Amino acid sequence: MRNTPAPSAVSVAGLRRHYGATEALRGVTFDVDAGQIFGLLGPNGAGKTTALECILGLRQPDGGVIHIHGLDLRTHAAQAKLLTGAQLQGAALQDKITPRQALELFGAFYADPCPAGELLGQFDLEAKADLPFATLSGGQRQRLFLALALVNRPTLLVLDEPTAGLDPQARRTLRSMIRELQAEGRTVLLSTHDLEEAGQLCDQLAILDQGRIIATAPPAELIAGAQAPSRLTVRTAPPLARAVIEALPGVLATTHTGDTWTLDAQSPNRLLAELVQRAGEAGAELLAIELRRPSLEDVFLELTGRPWAGAAEPGDAS
Ligand code: ATP
Repeated sequence: MRNTPAPSAVSVAGLRRHYGATEALRGVTFDVDAGQIFGLLGPNGAGKTTALECILGLRQPDGGVIHIHGLDLRTHAAQAKLLTGAQLQGAALQDKITPRQALELFGAFYADPCPAGELLGQFDLEAKADLPFATLSGGQRQRLFLALALVNRPTLLVLDEPTAGLDPQARRTLRSMIRELQAEGRTVLLSTHDLEEAGQLCDQLAILDQGRIIATAPPAELIAGAQAPSRLTVRTAPPLARAVIEALPGVLATTHTGDTWTLDAQSPNRLLAELVQRAGEAGAELLAIELRRPSLEDVFLELTGRPWAGAAEPGDAS
């Protein structure tokens, strides 16, 4: 007997959806393997929320097919929903409800809910369990929404921009909680317009732009395929002479301002070693040196011809 491979956790094929004249999704296709953290990365307005809402059965697509663990949403939406937990953008609760009450209320909709106490512990909400929702910080609210998404013990979690608007510390906490959910064996499909988050958190990315998927691969693979060179910026005292810079191997382009040289190179290892040696020979002291490798920002620019317009959250160095 031949083994049939397990179906993808989520399979989306040819998904289309318009709002009036706006074509939000123009034939979107991707597959999320079970156990992955899969990121739908795109700038504002790319269609991420629309795609996730279709996958959650909250919006009716104009065309295309969605399967959740092999269940066709057109015919088995109710069963698919039992496998899925969701955290939506702009989620809200009544001001006076407490985290414990909210978890118990949501749990009452299911036959075998995860106990509120367990979720409060898992998401570090015990100290806030009996305080009104209105008194929770942004990070605590997001953790509560994540806990609510788990009330029905889903195997698949769909999270729409789970860390948007949070401060760097709260974002780090939430990301590590998402990693823990994966370690427990769950699949996570999330949307983000945060390039750093996409690169750090996701096993697989689909880049969505203007309603189309323009690339799908692990982040490292996308970056390895970028044409952009590495960029080395070096500041010395005294500044390095042009003759020294021109003698360096493998330099593709140079710019110079004050005591700082910026050098583009395809393979920076050898360049860096030579640079340090030549600076020593010239009696120049290294004041600052920085190497910038190609990034997802370069990948987006190369794929679309447009700079990344997704607004980065200010102050995040996580
Ligand atoms: P963001 O990161 O800003 O939330 P997104 O990638 O999630 O953006 P969507 O919210 O899916 O993108 O929007 C895709 C396109 O569809 C946008 O042009 C948006 O203005 C439009 N759109 C979304 N919802 C509606 C709606 N209810 N009515 C009309 N147009 C809509």
